[in-house]
Amino acid sequence: MAKPGGNIYIVTAPSGAGKTTLVAALLAAEPGVKLSVSYTTRAPREGEVDGVHYHFVDRDAFLARLERGEFLEHAEVYGCYYGTSSLWIRERLAEGDDILLEIDWQGAQQVREAFPEAISIFILPPSLDELEARLRGRATDSDEVIERRLAVVRSEIDHVGNFEYVLVNDDIEVAKQDLISIIRAERLRATKQLTRHAALIASMKTAP
Ligand code: 5GP
Repeated sequence: MAKPGGNIYIVTAPSGAGKTTLVAALLAAEPGVKLSVSYTTRAPREGEVDGVHYHFVDRDAFLARLERGEFLEHAEVYGCYYGTSSLWIRERLAEGDDILLEIDWQGAQQVREAFPEAISIFILPPSLDELEARLRGRATDSDEVIERRLAVVRSEIDHVGNFEYVLVNDDIEVAKQDLISIIRAERLRATKQLTRHAALIASMKTAP
């Protein structure tokens, strides 16, 4: 079976919308999808592992990488820098892998400019109240950080119209299936399937 070119999936959501849980469920269901590990100047939260959740770097190291043109996209979010490695993306695409970027709307915009065929998905929380409750329940961030995060949610939601798909994470099990369905449907596009099954189609054409 021939491997068609991989897709780039962008998943964006206000923090607390459940993006991390949904992406983890997707990666478990679809192990072929490779998750980009971003660089950030944010301090690790409890349980976060360098090189797994993020590449944690200081501001100088981040800016040096930025200067060297190592980021496909980057943005400042809540006072910290975040960026996606260009090299990693190029390597994965050369292998024909499907890749997934968990990035904010500013990054999504930059990736769309570089790769207009990227498929972007926005995850909405069921309500602002629910989002606040989730952020407070998480207890990993200070009140001040939570307030700042809530303040930017409205401006993030202003950009939802630029995304191809929109999920509402009301029922987590439904949202997981919705996310998985998007990836499966994109894989079944004729442009991908005609490459993947070229031999099958050719054999049917020549069958007596
Ligand atoms: P957190 O600090 O909660 O892990 O992430 C804060 C925000 O930064 C989230 O919206 C997350 O999607 C975004 N983010 C994480 N990595 C990147 C990245 O590489 N680029 C951009 N533009 N945003 C990122």
